[in-house]
Amino acid sequence: MTSAKDRSVVIIGAGPVGLTVAALLLASPHADQVRIRVLESRAAPAWDQEQMDLRVYALSRASQRIFEHLGVWQQIVAARASPYRRIHVWEGDYAEGLGSLSFDSAELGEPDLGHIVEDRLIRERLFSVLDASANVELRVGVELAAVRLGTRAVEIDTQSGETIQATVLIAADGTASTVRRLLNLPVTAVPYGQHALVTHVVTARSHAETAWQRFLPDGPLAFLPLLDGRSSVVWSMSSDNAQRLSAVSEQAFCDELQTASGGVLGVIESSASRASFQLQALHACRYSCARVALVGDAAHTVHPLAGQGMNLGLLDAAALVDTLVSALRHGEDPGDLRVLRRYERQRKGGNLRMLLATHALQRLFRLPGPLFERLRVAGLSAVNTMPIAKNGLMRAALGLSGELPSAARARVV
Ligand SMILES: Cc1cc2nc3c(=O)[nH]c(=O)nc-3n(C[C@H](O)[C@H](O)[C@H](O)COP(=O)(O)OP(=O)(O)OC[C@H]3O[C@@H](n4cnc5c(N)ncnc54)[C@H](O)[C@@H]3O)c2cc1C
Repeated sequence: MTSAKDRSVVIIGAGPVGLTVAALLLASPHADQVRIRVLESRAAPAWDQEQMDLRVYALSRASQRIFEHLGVWQQIVAARASPYRRIHVWEGDYAEGLGSLSFDSAELGEPDLGHIVEDRLIRERLFSVLDASANVELRVGVELAAVRLGTRAVEIDTQSGETIQATVLIAADGTASTVRRLLNLPVTAVPYGQHALVTHVVTARSHAETAWQRFLPDGPLAFLPLLDGRSSVVWSMSSDNAQRLSAVSEQAFCDELQTASGGVLGVIESSASRASFQLQALHACRYSCARVALVGDAAHTVHPLAGQGMNLGLLDAAALVDTLVSALRHGEDPGDLRVLRRYERQRKGGNLRMLLATHALQRLFRLPGPLFERLRVAGLSAVNTMPIAKNGLMRAALGLSGELPSAARARVV
């Protein structure tokens, strides 16, 4: 029979979501009942104060609360986090007026609508929380080779020939999840034929702590405000165009970006290096099978136009830990399918709604022709005049709608 001390949770992938699962388990009152292992193929993250990571996320209030719960939020803010107070979206030649939609944190009585935070910074701070604990084994440079499901445990082989047993295996290994592939867990995937080009740019005009997003026929172009006055660019476009723009000179890139932006931030004076990411919509048909749960991009991958992929993943992490902790509290086997299905039921509907909404939006804004353009302009302008609809959208963007896992709830002080 399995004793409490033999229980172990193995997490594959030390991306932001996998690390958050581990840190929340460690912070739970039942942490001493499970051994926590995290296996990651990449090297440990090293945040660079001098050079801002190209990979940044717009983090919602719910994500902020999860990091506050873990005690890392203050460290992240002290290092570098850029608040944004407005979101401004438009289609067509004029950023303001007809065909535009603005959200302002003041309308909700909130100090901001979220923060832009670097990927490496989040991972480094979570790594240091886990590294400091004797209860956690965090290993980098480890590749998964095989997974075997048993009735009481799951066995994992690493590429180096080691075999590890776990009561629960958590797949936090991203959109191309090896765990999912090895277990033949089915997904619905729709490639967009698009890449997102990311960089940081210096602009002549201030970003005014606003996230700007223009819908273009080839895909959305976003400018996210950074603390040092620059803006982080996430520019979705056809893969061919992304390949071409990745290779042009800095000046040619800045010129094209300025044209695409409609000059909303004035002249684009310079840009950092560029990176590009292939885009797809993906949803796992099930987030769990006996002994295995999928979280984050391994379970669902959404278009970056709403900046929600990682926010959804962090809510998965918090909901899964709530479920596992409740199972431990009640003496249940945390790897039992009935337990893991509770997590799946809590998260799947909301994730799918967000995925479908972003999918529909990116399709809608790419429909060609003046009729669709007029309809979109009318739609954006109409929503802009509806405070109730706007407040509902802002609350959803802040991650505050629906049932929240315990770590994401507001704390009563
Ligand atoms: C251009 C762009 C902009 C985005 N902007 C935002 C945003 O503003 N806000 C937002 O919320 N989301 C955003 N997202 C989405 C966000 O990037 C993802 O949702 C998030 O990174 C998912 O985190 P994760 O931990 O699930 O997966 P990942 O970050 O992909 O981490 C997976 C980890 O697993 C490891 N791994 C993979 N395979 C193995 C293996 N076999 N063995 C061991 N380790 C393995 C990887 O090395 C990696 O460390 C954006 C996405 C893109 C492409």
